[in-house]
Amino acid sequence: MLSDLLPRSLSTDLGIDLGTANTVVFMRGQGIVLNEPSIVAIQDGSLLAVGHDAKAMIGRTPGHITATRPLRDGVIADFDLARRMLDYFISKAGRRPHALSRPRVVVGIPCGITEVEQRAVRDSALQAGARDVYLVEEPMAAAIGAGLPISAPEGNLIVDIGGGTTEVAVISVAGVVHSKSVRTAGDEMDEAIIQYLRKHYNLLVGERQAEAIKIALGSAVSLDGAPQVVEVKGRDLVDGIPKSIVITDGEVREALREIVIIIVETVQACLERIPPELAADIVDKGIVLTGGGALLRGLDDLLRKETRLPVTIAEDPMSCVALGLGRVLDEWRLLTQVAAPA
Ligand code: ADP
Ligand code: MG
Repeated sequence: MLSDLLPRSLSTDLGIDLGTANTVVFMRGQGIVLNEPSIVAIQDGSLLAVGHDAKAMIGRTPGHITATRPLRDGVIADFDLARRMLDYFISKAGRRPHALSRPRVVVGIPCGITEVEQRAVRDSALQAGARDVYLVEEPMAAAIGAGLPISAPEGNLIVDIGGGTTEVAVISVAGVVHSKSVRTAGDEMDEAIIQYLRKHYNLLVGERQAEAIKIALGSAVSLDGAPQVVEVKGRDLVDGIPKSIVITDGEVREALREIVIIIVETVQACLERIPPELAADIVDKGIVLTGGGALLRGLDDLLRKETRLPVTIAEDPMSCVALGLGRVLDEWRLLTQVAAPA
């Protein structure tokens, strides 16, 4: 215990936001040192590429190579691949830890993942060279990273919209008082765009392009100014030939509508279950949005309108979890408050 209170001059302690879409690694004393897609490409059972390189391969690989996401749909879909990906990222983030400098690793995990999944995360980090592994619930890490006063006896409402899951959590006195998680977030938005183009234009596009359309044109409410358009290239489902069409922001909004409604309803469902004292705090302080989905244009406006509460997007929403884990590494007291030793 005592050694943990002493400052360590040579530390490779890491905070790892093992997200369903992106993995962000924070190194103590340095800040964010790695930010890459949570994607691996496999050839004949061995790792061909990880991260950015693997993402570029999605949908473009010859038959004997597969590019996949080990954390699809907000859960660890493939334990072995998740472990290998984590191992790769830890090695890449710093020198690979050796026996004398095995770091503490704090990993962000979704609220409500099973014990089996928690064990898989812990074992992965241990195998990758961690000395001690701590798990922190992602909304808690996101709230810390967004600068919310999580230790105070006052309610904080955080909504983290990632690739696989949307997590809504009420935090007070360094604990998650109430949380709700749905497996509807950025990935389902991409899927909705794929379905829309298939249905309305007989056009087949891949997930990477669907994501690019969402980022370029996606919105939750109609935007001021002239309609925006984007050219989309894909394969015609009828004659099989590549073709290109033009779609508007209104069409993309329509494609995303159902997903956006689920997200808003999830927030509302959580709000309905907040104890009164904390609800009063949230009337004043409002809702803070984190995760890449927070960047969907107009989502904050829509939530403001539907909940009649103040809504703010955290600064750098895609880094909040990693920044929060970084702070936990720096403050032993915070670590003991919010982390479960795994
Ligand atoms: P995770 O924590 O699950 O890894 P992130 O917080 O990294 O997820 O967010 C990734 C999600 O955010 C992806 O679905 C991505 O497409 C989406 N995203 C990123 N930028 C934007 C944007 N500008 N508009 C809408 N969605 C975005
Ligand atoms: Mg996340």
